[in-house]
Amino acid sequence: MDFKSQNKNITNLLKFIDQRGGSNKLEIAENIMVSPAALTKISKKLLGDNILLEKKYVDENGRKKNLLVINYDRFFSIGVLIEESFTRVILTNLRNEVIEELKFENAYNGDFEEYLKALLKFIENIVEKSTAPRDRILGVGVVMTNEFIVKKSLDLFKEDRFITLKKAIMEKFTGYVFVETEIRAQALYEAFLDPVYKNFFLIKYGDKRGSAIVIDNKLVNPAITHYRSMGTRHFIVEPNSNIYCDICKKKGCFDTMVSPKYIFEEILKESNYSPRIESLYKNMDLNEFIKRAESGEIIECKSLRKVAKYIAILMINHNNLLPLDTFLLSGRIFKSSLFLSYLKMFLQEFQLGEVHENLIVLDDKIKRQELIASFLPINYIFYNYHFTENLED
Ligand SMILES: [Zn+2]
Repeated sequence: MDFKSQNKNITNLLKFIDQRGGSNKLEIAENIMVSPAALTKISKKLLGDNILLEKKYVDENGRKKNLLVINYDRFFSIGVLIEESFTRVILTNLRNEVIEELKFENAYNGDFEEYLKALLKFIENIVEKSTAPRDRILGVGVVMTNEFIVKKSLDLFKEDRFITLKKAIMEKFTGYVFVETEIRAQALYEAFLDPVYKNFFLIKYGDKRGSAIVIDNKLVNPAITHYRSMGTRHFIVEPNSNIYCDICKKKGCFDTMVSPKYIFEEILKESNYSPRIESLYKNMDLNEFIKRAESGEIIECKSLRKVAKYIAILMINHNNLLPLDTFLLSGRIFKSSLFLSYLKMFLQEFQLGEVHENLIVLDDKIKRQELIASFLPINYIFYNYHFTENLED
């Protein structure tokens, strides 16, 4: 038996049934390219595992049919979102619906091990509060925000910082721990929610900024990297800049050059504004800034063009390296037709005419940011059918 392809068929089958909200064998066989014999074998196995349930219904011609549906309460997932001052912990079912939630203040003063101990306690609390049996928890998805990394000066943040937590989780639950940065975890969830996009580059620009690559529904490590570290590898868009980045410790990276804080500071430096405008800029937010550009303020337009230029550089560099068919744009700025016209102008100027036909401006589908964390175990264990012992009961 080819274990790998068997898994891929199961993955496709589970995702298809989830997208349709239930499906029958004929429809599944037609859509996921699997032989009837293999399908019978797989569905028997999944029904036996209690992962799929059979629902009987009568179709429009009065014929009795069997509908296969996912048993969304078969397993549970835990999501942890670490923000600057608070950590949010949720427990979800396989549909990624929140069953329990809690939030605690990050009392982390340089001792990251202490923070992990506290986090483990809260994970245990949420499991105790819920009715979810321990052996049916798939794992814990941890999403680290940039604000936490920067503000708590978590130097050179690496995934292996979480080894203590991983060990403790493995001792107490059967599950695994998955650690991701916010933008990457979001990209993975977007790919799941919108399965038409299989190979894409996601760019987020707003209060949070960054990019991630998904190929064949899988996260790809940043193209230009030699070691696996997260959140610390930023793409340099302005090699001659002397603006230093707190996260990657380099100058002229994308994340710094397009940050609103930096842009607003540059605007104030550049001209002799009245005290009124100066105080306006002390509390400026991105939406207000975009509005000012759209109403024709010259300096704001110039800054907006710069952001468009850096985003275009980022896109072009990744397009050259990887087979991307789509660019997903997330954030209010991409809803501005002025900004989009700047972006297309730079893409054309850099001789990438075909790219701007592949731009897709995303709507906000993700209702709560914590869901990107709880989706990690659902993706890596449930949809990849990566069970070890938790299927034995
Ligand atoms: Zn940086």
